[in-house]
Amino acid sequence: MEKERFIFDLDGTLLTSDYHLERDLFYHHFGNKAYLIIPKVGELLDEYERNFPFYDVDLLSKFFSHKTGLSVTPNIIREWIWITGKDPGVLEDGVFETFDYLKSRDKSIIVLTNWFFASQEPRLRESGLLEYIDEIYAGDCFLKPRKEAYLGCRDQYDTSECVVIGDNLDKDYIGPRACEMDSVLYDKNDQYHKSIVKVKRLNELIDKL
Ligand SMILES: [Mg+2]
Repeated sequence: MEKERFIFDLDGTLLTSDYHLERDLFYHHFGNKAYLIIPKVGELLDEYERNFPFYDVDLLSKFFSHKTGLSVTPNIIREWIWITGKDPGVLEDGVFETFDYLKSRDKSIIVLTNWFFASQEPRLRESGLLEYIDEIYAGDCFLKPRKEAYLGCRDQYDTSECVVIGDNLDKDYIGPRACEMDSVLYDKNDQYHKSIVKVKRLNELIDKL
């Protein structure tokens, strides 16, 4: 069936950040103990996402405090959310071309992201992408790869009309397929097996779908 609803991951798919503001924030709060948190952030967020259904300030504060031995207060989490919203990062190749094409065909463009809405919406606005996007489904609701995350952003569309596009094998490729939604892996470094449905540049979607 022809696809009508294109569900994009955000980080590493539309925008890529170097997280320098996040590191500055942790240095500011934890000084010479910042090494207890900075190198582990990605791995701790992955662990949080496996254990909790959605992102929540108090849960994340308790989880990070427990795992790092630092006092990562709810206020620090709120500053973290605010500061990540200040750094849109760099646009991936071909995003505007792909979005222009999809909009010219009257397709629905959605963002499904595992981070707080309050960070992701300003990043999308700052990068000029927000006007293309019909809806943002963020980690405050359901985290990928839970099936509720994919099924929850169908709106009035049938599952067969939706396709998820993103750079993470579990969250953006296998997860949707487990609930019978199509997916395309964004594999810009060509590191995954050729049996996977994938693109190296987002505008290859134009030919693929
Ligand atoms: Mg990603």
